Amino acid sequence: MKRKWKVGILGATGTVGQRFIQLLERHPWFEVADIAASDRSAGKSYQQACPWKISGHMPVYVRKMKVKDCVPNLDCDLVFSGLPSSMAGEVETAFAQAGYAVLSNSKNHRMDEDVPLLVPEINSEHLGLLAIQQKNHHDRAGYIITNPNCSTMALVLALAPLDVAFGIEKIHVVTMQALSGAGYPGVASLDIIDNVIPYIADEEEKVETEPCKILGKFRDGKIMFADFKISAQCHRVNVLDGHLEAVSIALKQRPSLHQFIEALKSYRSLPQELELPSAPQFPVVHVEGLDRPQPRFDREVENGMATVVGRIRPCKVFDFKFDLLGHNTIRGAAGAAILNAELLVKQRLLMARS
Ligand code: NAP
Repeated sequence: MKRKWKVGILGATGTVGQRFIQLLERHPWFEVADIAASDRSAGKSYQQACPWKISGHMPVYVRKMKVKDCVPNLDCDLVFSGLPSSMAGEVETAFAQAGYAVLSNSKNHRMDEDVPLLVPEINSEHLGLLAIQQKNHHDRAGYIITNPNCSTMALVLALAPLDVAFGIEKIHVVTMQALSGAGYPGVASLDIIDNVIPYIADEEEKVETEPCKILGKFRDGKIMFADFKISAQCHRVNVLDGHLEAVSIALKQRPSLHQFIEALKSYRSLPQELELPSAPQFPVVHVEGLDRPQPRFDREVENGMATVVGRIRPCKVFDFKFDLLGHNTIRGAAGAAILNAELLVKQRLLMARS
């Protein structure tokens, strides 16, 4: 049997990093070979350095692994990055220059013209940017691929089938975002208990721009952004995991309510055809209850890799309105990057370094 690909995790002790550690524990194609974080953690064992905050125990395989510095001398073929945006840009570039495939959760490179903002269900053809990225940066033996912001991720999985079937004209979305989305220690308890905060720095800009790149077409070596408009209002709420979003949408062709729901429910795409190990069987799951989806009950659907939609109904201002839910640290972060890496394996775009 071929050996597993060796992966490194940058920011391994953080909220997203912990999710990588958990999701990769028994991964059929990848094994965690190296972990890195800040100089506060470097030199310590993972169990000394990491304030494990997700449900389930810290996996045994990682407890005694030594945390290293985020410098490009890790013993692995690719790195997953869960680094803060304050320094992710430079560090990820350094790893790409040193020949690593970098799969990033940070915002820094998402909108670079030659960097794919990859969602395997939607835009695998954007991987054509990798050759252009390497041509543009002669010093980059590896490459950078990004996954979307956590709210964007949940939203675009529902938008993609609607855009294909009916064309999107405009969207209004109100997000209610979980605390784990702010990392650890994140929002102070005295700010969020008994409260909702109607502001998350930079979030509305990300939700308003990233979907247009993701749903854009790859033509003549460039991404032609989708032309619909999005207005977003983002809120932090007192929920642990799972971003809920209230969406109103206007379409170019007006389907019946039944056709609208069927387009979402019947959506399948490349990761499902390729049977990638982390792919949800159904990227969009429709729940029937009048009061669903809800974070506590629906965030684990499809192991946290799907967008759960419900309350689909006609809208008097737009065409339809509905609620959707996505697990922000699974499909909204670590799970998305792992699915991206699985697609790279299938498309023979990963290079062995180690
Ligand atoms: P976090 O909980 O604050 O974790 C940050 C990680 O980065 C920790 O491992 C930390 O190591 C490390 N780090 C901090 N400063 C560093 C430095 N100067 N050098 C090297 N490593 C450093 O943050 P997070 O929520 O996991 O988010 C990580 C990234 O993912 C961010 O860019 C965020 O925007 C993005 N993201 C987060 C989510 C989410 O739901 N949380 C979703 C999508 C995208 P120490 O433990 O040693 O300090």
